[in-house]
Amino acid sequence: MSLYEKCYRCGGSKSVKCEACICPECEGLGKRDCPGCDRGKIPCEACASKGTIPCDVCAGTGSVSCQDCVGKGIVTKKTWILKKEVPCLTCSGEGHVDCPACSGSKTVSCPTCNASRRVSCPQCEGSSHLKCQVCDGTSVQSSCDQCSGSRKVPCSKCKGSGQLETDWAKKLRGSSEDRLRSEYERRQGDAARLPQKISGMRQELREMDDEYNGPNVAPDSYHGEMPQMIWLEEAKLQRLEEEMRDIEKVLNEKW
Ligand SMILES: [Zn+2]
Ligand SMILES: [Zn+2]
Ligand SMILES: [Zn+2]
Ligand SMILES: [Zn+2]
Ligand SMILES: [Zn+2]
Ligand SMILES: [Zn+2]
Ligand SMILES: [Zn+2]
Repeated sequence: MSLYEKCYRCGGSKSVKCEACICPECEGLGKRDCPGCDRGKIPCEACASKGTIPCDVCAGTGSVSCQDCVGKGIVTKKTWILKKEVPCLTCSGEGHVDCPACSGSKTVSCPTCNASRRVSCPQCEGSSHLKCQVCDGTSVQSSCDQCSGSRKVPCSKCKGSGQLETDWAKKLRGSSEDRLRSEYERRQGDAARLPQKISGMRQELREMDDEYNGPNVAPDSYHGEMPQMIWLEEAKLQRLEEEMRDIEKVLNEKW
C-alpha cells in the first residue's frame, strides 16, 4: 500500500508529447500519398501497358527468310550428271520460316516492365508515399507556441507531478478523523499480536527440523507450507505497518 503510484499517462516522467506540435498537413505521418501513381506503380510506356513489344528480329512479321534456300523456296540438287531444282524442305517451299526469337507470335515480352505492364513510380521510387513538404518528414511543426519547441508539455493527468493518488489514499483522505483513528488502532492491535505468532511458528519449525533430522518421514507441510505460512504472516505485518504509516501521514495532513 502506498499513497501515491506512478502516473499511468506519462509513466512518471511528468510530461507528455505535445499534441499541438503535430504537422497539420500530414497529420503527423511525415508523408503523403504520391499523387502520380497507383500504389507505387505507373503504366509502362515502353509497351504502352501491353506487356509485349513487337519482335525486333522479324520486325513484327512473325517470320524470317529461310536460310537453306535464301528465301527462294527452291534448292538445286546435284546428281552425277544433272542439276535439278526441288522445293526447299526446310520451309516447305515457302521461302520463309517462323521467327526463332518470337516463335512466330510477332511479339516478345516487354523487357522494361518484365511483361507486368507497370513500372515503379519514379516520383516516389515505388513507395507510394512522398515526404511531407511542410514538416520535411519530421511529423511535427517547426515552431509551436504550446511547448516552444520542446515537444513536451506537462502531463495533465498528474499535473506534472509524475504521480497519482492511489485509491487507498483517496479512501483515507475521504474518511473522518474518528474513522482514521479507529482504523489505525485496529491495525495496531493486529500488528501487536503478529510478532508473537511468527516467533511461535518459527519455534515449531525448528522443532520439526530436529524431529525429522533422523529416520522419521516429514509430512508435506514441513517442506513447503510451514515456511510459506511464516512468510505470509511477515508480509502481513509489514503491510499493517505501512498502512499505519499512511494513516498517520493523512492524519497529520488533516489535523
Ligand atoms: Zn502524468
Ligand atoms: Zn508543441
Ligand atoms: Zn520475331
Ligand atoms: Zn527454304
Ligand atoms: Zn512494358
Ligand atoms: Zn509514386
Ligand atoms: Zn507534415
